[in-house]
Amino acid sequence: MNTEVMEYGARSVSKAAELLKCGQLVAIPTETVYGLAANALDENAVRNIFKAKGRPQDNPLIVHISGIKMLPPLVREIPDIAMRLAESFWAGPLTMIFPKSDKIPSVTSGGLDTVAVRMPESEAARAIIKQCGFPLAAPSANLSGKPSPTTAAHVFEDMNGKIPLIVDGGECSVGVESTVVCFKGDVIHILRPGGVTAEMLAEFGNVEIDKAVTAQPEKGERVLSPGMKYKHYSPKADVFIVNAHNMKFREYCLKRSRYEKGLIALGAGAEENGVFLDYGDTPEKQARNLFSLLRRADELNAKTVLVEMPDKSGVGLAVYNRLLRAAAFRIIEV
Ligand code: AMP
Ligand code: MG
Repeated sequence: MNTEVMEYGARSVSKAAELLKCGQLVAIPTETVYGLAANALDENAVRNIFKAKGRPQDNPLIVHISGIKMLPPLVREIPDIAMRLAESFWAGPLTMIFPKSDKIPSVTSGGLDTVAVRMPESEAARAIIKQCGFPLAAPSANLSGKPSPTTAAHVFEDMNGKIPLIVDGGECSVGVESTVVCFKGDVIHILRPGGVTAEMLAEFGNVEIDKAVTAQPEKGERVLSPGMKYKHYSPKADVFIVNAHNMKFREYCLKRSRYEKGLIALGAGAEENGVFLDYGDTPEKQARNLFSLLRRADELNAKTVLVEMPDKSGVGLAVYNRLLRAAAFRIIEV
């Protein structure tokens, strides 16, 4: 199959909608990461997402809508707290879990009785959904296990020959996947941290962070968010988080680079040279750069990637959560 890359605009939106209406897959830009979209209500189309990504069948997909009117038919119940969060954070990087209606096929929800729904802020994503007239299931448009794509070029690397169209909307502004929450009474339970932070959610109720966000689930342990049990976001290189900052981090990496070939270090505000890449000195910049730098490390044939421990506040918790999985939970204490 020939994979066409088209810039976002009226023509690409029409082409995308036309393909999606025929049950095909299209990669679309969103503010979080690029999504691999299919009609969320079409079982066969959704099955192709799992095939193209090599995604485990029990890892449910997020269903994307372009307006609040699309929500009620997809769910059995909308708690008041969800409406309040939707008013404040939609359109945006917040995904909420609801009891699913019969419209949502079981493939889409990974066999669960619930469905994850989000309204993306990206104008391109909403224009495509609107033109389709149905919601889109859209996980990250990478091969399962690899770093999520934040540019159309990343999607092309992973999906060339597998899908007919990639809509190029430029670089993603958030750079990590959406915050996923479910509700336990009035408690907002964070299953996956993202661009809408725990601090922002705390203004609307008590916030609880699922233990799988920062801890490795035991073998066979049932996790609330199935995605959390898989190794994720990894380049070919071996990734480690280094619990040291500034000069201490730099000295540790430099020392190792003297006797180790293929060592790349991602430092907060690092001066870039043969060893260091700059992953930004704020949580927002780190979120935007992380996946793209993990891919860059592969291009540079890195064997080992050492990453300076991120600040865990705000969107930094999302950066830490993705890094822990890229690093298979390995933290080096210096
Ligand atoms: P991705 O689309 O690749 O960003 O992954 C979607 C994330 O949302 C995964 O971590 C899923 O486990 C999670 N998710 C999707 N639907 C549900 C659901 N019904 N219940 C719990 N977690 C979900
Ligand atoms: Mg993903």
